Amino acid sequence: MSDECKKVVIALGGNALQEAGTPATAEAQLQVVNKTCEYLADISCKGYEMAIVHGNGPQVGRIVLSQEIASMAEGDLPAMPFDVCGAMSQGYIGYQIQQSLRDALRNRNRNIPVVTILTQVVVDENDPAFLNPTKPIGPFYSKEDAERLIAEKGYVMKEDAGRGWRRLVASPVPKRITEIDSVKRLWNTTIVITAGGGGVPVVENMDGSLRGIAAVIDKDLAAERLAEDMGTDYLLILTGVNKVAINYKKPDQQELSHITVAQAIKYMEEGHFAPGSMLPKVLAAIKFARRFPGKKAIITSLYKAAEALEGKEGTTITMA
Ligand code: ADP
Ligand code: MG
Repeated sequence: MSDECKKVVIALGGNALQEAGTPATAEAQLQVVNKTCEYLADISCKGYEMAIVHGNGPQVGRIVLSQEIASMAEGDLPAMPFDVCGAMSQGYIGYQIQQSLRDALRNRNRNIPVVTILTQVVVDENDPAFLNPTKPIGPFYSKEDAERLIAEKGYVMKEDAGRGWRRLVASPVPKRITEIDSVKRLWNTTIVITAGGGGVPVVENMDGSLRGIAAVIDKDLAAERLAEDMGTDYLLILTGVNKVAINYKKPDQQELSHITVAQAIKYMEEGHFAPGSMLPKVLAAIKFARRFPGKKAIITSLYKAAEALEGKEGTTITMA
């Protein structure tokens, strides 16, 4: 690959890995990943250099659940901590994309290596997000079990709409991708899958060593961090819709093709983007467009991704 290649960080949403309403088995997931990788391989064939960031919500949820069940069955075997579960999810999802994308590329006579990097992302222990955990993770518990976990482990637990008690963790801002130098070294030769699930959240000790913590880093913001560090031409966020809309799901819904950062901020302040779903994507896009005036952040679906890179589809966000 050469300097003429356009560089893109691609963030894959939940629907690129699992189909809603189908069982969350490894086999079912691989089928969805196989389809996803056809689109990714097509983008690679158009001459783009890419790195891939993916979500991990349902997957890490299932790993946490299996840990809890194993722990109950064994009595005195503690569940694996949340950061370790996150690392497992990176391995499992990365493995499937790595295998599937390799095949899709080989079928196109494009023998580019695909590699997953187990990625740690540094967050600030004093990030205000830690004062207000918002992300529910893992299984539902009874009130008694929840009270025990609060006392024994110091978990933050909250009753979730009559369905039981759930653990909440913070969603801090990604400060630094620990393995970024390795990503840079591999970039020109290899498709790297990195910062899966937003990265395993770690904090830096006084002596510079790292320590995993229970938190969820937004994968769209982690992808933006990566795109900034790499200075890519595009940040491409792939999700369940072809375009971002204002008045979403209302009779006067209007799909957006191109907006400036100023317009995006205005719509954001008017409350058009749902927190926890579209809002973090728009925030990531704004951050990228601000950092690199002239470059494009794009939000679209997998199916429109290639056209969106050519400016014919999706929602493009630019500084001016
Ligand atoms: P992902 O798994 O890709 O991160 P999310 O479900 O978290 O996806 O967020 C994307 C979803 O947000 C879209 O598929 C859509 O259903 C929803 N959404 C919320 N607000 C908007 C909006 N203003 N325009 C378009 N989609 C929106
Ligand atoms: Mg999401």
